[in-house]
Amino acid sequence: MKEILQDKSFAELKSLVEEAGEKSFRARQLMEGLTQGKKISELPVSARLRALLSEQFEDEPVRIVETLTSKDGTKKFLFALADGNIVEGVFMKYKYGNTQCVSTQVGCRMGCKFCASTLNGLVRNLTAGEILGQILAVNRAEGGTKKERAVTNVVLMGSGEPFDNYANVVRFLRNLTAEEGLGMSARNISLSTCGLVPQMRAFAEEGIPLNLTVSLHAVTDEERARTMPVANAYHIADILDACAYYFEKTGRRYIFEYSLIAGENSDPAHAAALAELLRGKPCHVNLIRLNAVKERHLLAADERNAQAFLKELTARGISATLRRSMGSDIGGACGQLRAKYLGQGG
Ligand code: SAH
Repeated sequence: MKEILQDKSFAELKSLVEEAGEKSFRARQLMEGLTQGKKISELPVSARLRALLSEQFEDEPVRIVETLTSKDGTKKFLFALADGNIVEGVFMKYKYGNTQCVSTQVGCRMGCKFCASTLNGLVRNLTAGEILGQILAVNRAEGGTKKERAVTNVVLMGSGEPFDNYANVVRFLRNLTAEEGLGMSARNISLSTCGLVPQMRAFAEEGIPLNLTVSLHAVTDEERARTMPVANAYHIADILDACAYYFEKTGRRYIFEYSLIAGENSDPAHAAALAELLRGKPCHVNLIRLNAVKERHLLAADERNAQAFLKELTARGISATLRRSMGSDIGGACGQLRAKYLGQGG
């Protein structure tokens, strides 16, 4: 694989242009073109620079190979990377804006029992430019520009564990928020982690005040370990401490993801215990009914159960919402579409 130009920061593009002996205004043209989702062969720079860049860099590191549209308007994209690997992303239209869910790894090695992304383990990390490239490709496909973005919000909730690919994810976030690029506000970005405590603490120091989301899915370490092997490495108490530290450093309220699984974590007693665990904390709970994955023998809590869980939580003073599962007719859950594409059912 050649290098990936979309990995570069604006400062790095500037040095690249200078080293190539081109005028410095070319760097801005280059950045403009890349931000519009252009391939190298389409960039509005001199033919000489285009030729130089083509030798060293991938022309189109992230290419949309399939688009599926759900009845609810949600779109699912399959992206091909330069080495032939496939990742997926979801694009959801809401009243307040359009959210794109991006992948940070090909596969995942966290092993959560309910998740399709981890079925075959980790293949490789995505580079910063391959993560950004998903957004650039969708923004272009949806008719967005640099000024009028079609993608207004980004969530790092596709396949992969963002903090298991820490350096590339941080680089991606710096490039995504840089004013020379898409200039997205950190407030419009959410990062979801299964709770890698050292990286959560390190991230609090990065000065990127995004919405930190933690996948909790259980109220005790023992119960959590039944569906999330990472619970054997990090305890809920330490995750909560890291969240408090994040709040201290950024002033941002944090969010917990809690997927309701029948007979596992969705009884009223679990709701009461969750409320007790989170009492007084500057947090919000996002409930979602499990999106059942064929290869996994776990079922969603039923709708009545989910409503009762929500009621119990809110009655106990916890800010919570029960989210609709979007795009379930097109394999909306993590890794489902890729699994299907790779011919493993789903
Ligand atoms: N690795 C990160 C982000 C990717 S998953 C993390 O663990 O947070 C995004 C969210 O979807 C996580 O909360 C994850 O636990 C949840 N998820 C995965 N598979 C799911 C499924 N089948 N149904 C419901 N939620 C699921």
